[in-house]
Amino acid sequence: MAKVEWDYIVPVKMPAALKSVEPGKLHPSLLRDIPTGGKLFYLAADAWNAMVEAAKAAGVELKPTSSGDLYRTYDSQKAGFLSRYSLENTGTGSTKTFEGKTWYLKKGMAMLATPGKSQHNLGLAVDIANASEKKRINWLIANVEKFGWSWEVVPSEPWHIRYVSGDNPTAAVQEYVARNPKPVGMFGTVAEQKAAAEAKVAAPKANVEEAKGKPVLRLGQKGLFIKEAQRLLEKNGYPCRPDGDFGPKTQDLIEQFQKARNIPVTGEIDQPTWAALLA
Ligand SMILES: [Zn+2]
Repeated sequence: MAKVEWDYIVPVKMPAALKSVEPGKLHPSLLRDIPTGGKLFYLAADAWNAMVEAAKAAGVELKPTSSGDLYRTYDSQKAGFLSRYSLENTGTGSTKTFEGKTWYLKKGMAMLATPGKSQHNLGLAVDIANASEKKRINWLIANVEKFGWSWEVVPSEPWHIRYVSGDNPTAAVQEYVARNPKPVGMFGTVAEQKAAAEAKVAAPKANVEEAKGKPVLRLGQKGLFIKEAQRLLEKNGYPCRPDGDFGPKTQDLIEQFQKARNIPVTGEIDQPTWAALLA
C-alpha cells in the first residue's frame, strides 16, 4: 500500500480482568469461543461478534485469517516466533530481543511480536482475512471505532486490529449484547453460557449494593475483609479457618464456590463473589 489511507490508531484501554494476567496464559473463564473458531477475551468477543453482524448486513464478510489468529497461547506465539526468527544474523536487519538474546527475522518472513508481547496473547487482537480488499477495508475504516476496535500498525498491517474499549463497550456493542443476552457477569465459553442460561441462573440481586463497598481480594493478601469472606464461605458450607490470610486453600474454596454458583471462576473475591457470599 503506497499511502496511508487511514490512521485510526488509539491506545488499548486494558480491561480490569486482564491487568494482572500473564499474557498467553489466560484462565479459560476469561475466554469466549468465536463462532468461526478460536477464542477472544470475552469483552472483545462481544465487540467482534457485534461488528461481524453489522458488516454482514452491509454485505461485507469479516472472518479471522485462521482460528489461531485471535487469542494465542504463549506456547503458540513462541512456536510462531521460532519459525520466523533465527539466532544467526540473516541480514534482514529486523531484530527482536527474546529471552535475553537478539533474534533476526528470516528472509521472506513477516514480522511477529515477541511471545507474551502481542495483544493476541491477551485475546484482544484479531487478524482479518483479506483485510485490504477495497470494499472490506473501506467498511472497516468507517466502522471499527463504532465497535471499539483500532489498528495497531498502519499501513503495513491492515489485517491486525485490537479491541481498545476496555471495560466500556461502545453503544453499538451494548445494543448487540442487549439483543443477544447472556447471564449478567457470565464469562466462559458459549456452551457454558448456554448451559447457565438454560439453568436460569441469575446474578444475585440481593446484597449487590453491599458487595460494591467491598475490596477485591486476591491470593497473598491478609486482613479483616479476608476474615469476613472466610466466615461467609463457612456459612455457605465451605469449611474454612477464618485466619484473615488469603492462602491457596482459601483460593481453592473460592474457586469451588464460584463454580457452584455459576459466577466467573477468577479465584479472586471480586464483586460478583462478594454478592453471592452475602446473599
Ligand atoms: Zn495480528
